[in-house]
Amino acid sequence: MKNKPPENPAFRMTPQRAEILRFLDGNKSHPSAEDIYARLKRKFPGMSFATVYNTLQTLISNGQLAEIKIDAARKRFDPGLTPHHHLLCVRCGLIADLPARRQAPPKGAPKGFKILICNVEYYGICPACGRGGNKEKISWKKK
Ligand SMILES: [Zn+2]
Ligand SMILES: [Zn+2]
Repeated sequence: MKNKPPENPAFRMTPQRAEILRFLDGNKSHPSAEDIYARLKRKFPGMSFATVYNTLQTLISNGQLAEIKIDAARKRFDPGLTPHHHLLCVRCGLIADLPARRQAPPKGAPKGFKILICNVEYYGICPACGRGGNKEKISWKKK
């Protein structure tokens, strides 16, 4: 009893937090904290950026959300927790997912080195930006 580890602080569910979770659920756009805040502010005009930011940090420490750093300008958030790689469009900031396969150790790795995690980041120009066309018409899905 004496040495009981401190319990994780309970994640108190507020309407704001519930809305953040709803917004992130299945969200493939890899939003930044600013994107999420802008979206949530429409529904909760009194909400502060700190609330959004702290909620994101809590979700990350609970293992419910991943932070991705492919975009040097700002951190982006990813509710998709199955391992995958990312493609970033350097013009518009679009981030798309790529399925990750189990990686063999790269050439030059010490013998017997076991790969646990492999994050590959691809930088390029998305089809919409390549065409100089309309961002809304973009489709990354394979037909
Ligand atoms: Zn683009
Ligand atoms: Zn992703």
